[in-house]
Amino acid sequence: MKVYFDNAATTKVENEVKKLMQPYFDKIYGNASSLHFLGQQSRQAIEEAREKIAGFLGARREEIIFTSCATESNNLAIKGVVFAYDFLRKQKNPKYSFAEKPHIITSSIEHHAVLHTTEYLEKFGFQVTYLPVDKDGVIKVEDVEKNIKKNTVLVSIMYVNNEIGSIQPIKEIGQLLKKINEKRDKEKLPKIYFHTDAVQAFLYLDCNVQELGVDLLSLTGHKFHAPKGIGLLYIKKGTLILPQQTGGGHEFGLRAGTENIPYIVGLAKAMEIAFENREKEALKIKKLQRMVVDEVLNNIEDVVLIGSLTKKAPHIVSFCFKNIEGESLVLMLSQKGIATSSGSACTSGKLEPSHVLLACGVPPQIAHGSLRISLGKYNTEKEVKYFIEVLKKTVKKLEKISPKELL
Ligand code: PLP
Repeated sequence: MKVYFDNAATTKVENEVKKLMQPYFDKIYGNASSLHFLGQQSRQAIEEAREKIAGFLGARREEIIFTSCATESNNLAIKGVVFAYDFLRKQKNPKYSFAEKPHIITSSIEHHAVLHTTEYLEKFGFQVTYLPVDKDGVIKVEDVEKNIKKNTVLVSIMYVNNEIGSIQPIKEIGQLLKKINEKRDKEKLPKIYFHTDAVQAFLYLDCNVQELGVDLLSLTGHKFHAPKGIGLLYIKKGTLILPQQTGGGHEFGLRAGTENIPYIVGLAKAMEIAFENREKEALKIKKLQRMVVDEVLNNIEDVVLIGSLTKKAPHIVSFCFKNIEGESLVLMLSQKGIATSSGSACTSGKLEPSHVLLACGVPPQIAHGSLRISLGKYNTEKEVKYFIEVLKKTVKKLEKISPKELL
């Protein structure tokens, strides 16, 4: 039996999506900037996809910028906003002439696509505050307020964490920033923009940008059954932002490069399927998630569930096995046809525990034993049962051989 429990890493491309993409490889292959009929057909396909996608997000068509992935979207959102503010600051524009370089607020559990971008900006003198999380992996809204400074220009908080599935209070932060921005406007202070990395949220949670109160929102197609290599950034009209990839004037001058037409068409179709089935799928997956948690906790000793189930998106759960090492567990499950992942990252022979687990207060020796199960629409109860049988045996085997004194 083959079981795919790594849907937070990536998902299978939907057949309907592939079918719809096909003609744009071999029939309508024109460059969307070309004036001839093939170019115009390509342009039409892009603009129809953009219009549809804007509808799924409650946005306007000109607010959707196609990118190659969420890493690129996050880079554009974060660097684009802070560089724009820094540019205005250097122009000695009175509204933007704070003494210090722009300040960003983010969380300590963001994906590296955000964290490594803010760390990069710190090297150039930009200021960054990393908010802590509680044991469930959730930030406090009041911590955002407490950390706002005169030179704060951006708050970037992920919607759903990719390792433990915790949902962040995006709507509440949106409401808070709206009030703060009204006050700042009267005080002639610049607006604080709000960005969310919603990569792990789109399949199961409402991503309406008006409801959430966000100015920027990142998505990547391969997390919701579109191919790898296509993403988007929602940018609210009027946002101060500089392009991070310059060249031709594509994507309203914000992201140069010939548009990836088949993938854009595929992205829109995958979003349509996800959007239309969201509530039904969320209920189904939540039930499977509950089953995984109950079965693991009832059948295995020395294991902890990271974070409360009530604060999680339906598709992600993370456990820590006290006496074993997560990567060995992943490899042994893989030998039995089960694809999962672990929060540890093996870099230069040294096992680093996940920054997310550490931020949730998990001790490093326990964080080494992490296992992430991420479910998807094709998973079944039968697969969960098979996984539990294999897991029980595997954990026993690993416990016997684990060098406990090192853990
Ligand atoms: N943000 C989150 C929360 C993710 O889970 C991922 C992928 O794992 C990314 C960003 C990066 O996505 P991509 O690899 O498509 O750039």
